[in-house]
Amino acid sequence: MVGYVIGADVGGTKTASCAVTRSGEVLERVTEPTPKTSGAAVVDVLLRQSADLAESLGAPPCALGISATGAIDQSTGVIVAGSETIPGWVGLDLTAALRPTGIEHIAVDNDLNAYAIGEHWLGAARAPGPVLVVAVGTGVGAALLLDGQPYRGAHNMAGEIAHIPVAEATGFICPCGRPGHVEAVASGPGVAVTYAAATGGAQPVTGKQVVELMNRGDPVARACVQRAGRALGSALTCVATTIDPELVVIGGGFSAAGSVWFGSCVGVLREELLEPLAHLDVRLGTLGPDAPLLGAAKQAWSLVAE
Ligand SMILES: [Zn+2]
Repeated sequence: MVGYVIGADVGGTKTASCAVTRSGEVLERVTEPTPKTSGAAVVDVLLRQSADLAESLGAPPCALGISATGAIDQSTGVIVAGSETIPGWVGLDLTAALRPTGIEHIAVDNDLNAYAIGEHWLGAARAPGPVLVVAVGTGVGAALLLDGQPYRGAHNMAGEIAHIPVAEATGFICPCGRPGHVEAVASGPGVAVTYAAATGGAQPVTGKQVVELMNRGDPVARACVQRAGRALGSALTCVATTIDPELVVIGGGFSAAGSVWFGSCVGVLREELLEPLAHLDVRLGTLGPDAPLLGAAKQAWSLVAE
């Protein structure tokens, strides 16, 4: 029996666990909807998935890594802040709650950090220098990797780039309640809001639908997608100027928006950044939704002696 760890990701819609070898091979995976009823119900899903994988593979895992939404005190495994979409999630001691698995080594990290670690391990972010990994989906977030590990900051808030004010978001309200933050126009829901504002909001649409409308030739949809890309580019100009990364990797569900969006983002970076940062290497992520699972697995392996 080859040794394995479990990498698990608690996402907004799905919770997935996979068995991963030390070299990054995925042996098996299980997925089910994330329960919205309570934090305890999410823990039950994680416990069940872990038991199912151990039974299927005929041996317990060497360690368990969890990628979870919210700001997490990685030293304790406690969810210290986050959205209130799952009652009892904020304040949950995830490490303690997962003790019934019997697994000695448990690593818990924020989903953005896990995403970045996954892309650094096996995807597009493989670089020794500082790497900025950005994810755009229902929100906008980032992780800064230094020597392959996330820089966390003094309050576990490093990478919360959603709340950078940008000119492209003037007049739009961020989910945090403040006007003009990049997430207000650059996330998937943000693009839907700007499209509704530009068209009178006759038909509610999702960000993905706005991209589909653009691909069918809708000029308003195209302008909204371009605005989203340029807003992200403005925010990343601030971040890149501050940290001087070797590489920027952009992923997340909305990164499927394609070349109009990506080109708008990179165009702002090329316009605004000074030499030699103007040639900053900016790439799309390559692992998709597997990135946080693999990053969680990598963090789990870091707890296991070779
Ligand atoms: Zn905000």
